[in-house]
Amino acid sequence: MKTIKKDIVIVGGGPIGIACALECKKRDWDYVIIEKGALTNSIFNYPRNMTFFSSSEKLEIDEIPFISNKSKPNRDEALEYYRRVTTSNNLNIHLFERVNQIEKQTDHFKTKTDKAIYTSNQVIICTGFYDIPKLLNVPGEDLDKVTHYYKEAHNYTLQDVVVVGASNSAVDAALEIWRKGGRVTMVVRGEDIGKRVKYWVRPDIINRIEEGSITAYFNSEIKAIKENSVKIQTPEGIISLDNDYVVALTGYLPNFNLLEKSGITMSDDEKHIPNYDSETMESNVEGLYLAGVICGGMETHKWFIENSRIHAKLIAEAIAKKQNITA
Ligand code: FAD
Repeated sequence: MKTIKKDIVIVGGGPIGIACALECKKRDWDYVIIEKGALTNSIFNYPRNMTFFSSSEKLEIDEIPFISNKSKPNRDEALEYYRRVTTSNNLNIHLFERVNQIEKQTDHFKTKTDKAIYTSNQVIICTGFYDIPKLLNVPGEDLDKVTHYYKEAHNYTLQDVVVVGASNSAVDAALEIWRKGGRVTMVVRGEDIGKRVKYWVRPDIINRIEEGSITAYFNSEIKAIKENSVKIQTPEGIISLDNDYVVALTGYLPNFNLLEKSGITMSDDEKHIPNYDSETMESNVEGLYLAGVICGGMETHKWFIENSRIHAKLIAEAIAKKQNITA
């Protein structure tokens, strides 16, 4: 396997990885982004018709203007924006290459991917949280009719669809599927639609439930999924519903494995928040930095593009202070 020498390795080509690369480029550092999928792979896999809750200027990186048709951009506009930022700045990015291990040697890091080994003095991990779905852990979850990633509604027209969850993603999916002629039942563990659901969408779903267009079971959980039905535990007991598809949108988990293998420690509680200095973003492993949504551990709603794009600058300033960037 070939060995490639860099000043800085950036793991993850999402918006925050791109922001880090821009900071490196400004300082003439020799960096590379390594991304296991397509450019901005998480956003690429978001629902086709999703609209961001942030206005476009809040998703800008390095103050490069993001112009969208409406104040809140959609997925296609975000893909266009981050693509143009990457290509017009000629950022150095290796796509479809997965980082499997980051090893700290005495005076540098060895980052091992499925294609090469990279040596560098600094590594920035910005791997996001969209790759591992939180499972329902019920029988039948492995059936083909169950998905943890919603893309678009057409497939669900005239079908009996259960949407699990009551967050932004679940609510958007439920409304879109219902509007395209699907028969939607929501199964919600809590007693209400999520409080963080976009303020202009929440009344819409509540009204659809109240008028009976969409059925919702609150304080309820799926117990089993079969080829043509689902079993739901409701406060009134277990019910069985005819069912063609289950769209389970109950959140995603960061890949803690890569962090742990790299020596990064995390809080002992269920939040699993990685240890890092919030002024420099340096983790407990010297020279290994964290940026973006990965910093929140299990609290995946804590950091998003809007409030974590600043991490790139903090890291670059911290590295510049050390002035030992060459491996
Ligand atoms: P990501 O965008 O997840 O990028 C991480 C990248 O790392 C991915 O491309 C992944 O493929 C790659 N990667 C992971 N593991 C490896 C590996 N081992 N090797 C190589 N590459 C790897 N935020 C906002 O600010 N405003 C919004 O309006 C908004 N709306 C959202 C709507 C939805 C439906 C969702 C799901 C999220 C939304 N967010 C929003 C959150 C926001 O998209 C994320 O916080 C953001 O993508 C975080 O950027 P990131 O670069 O940290 O991580």
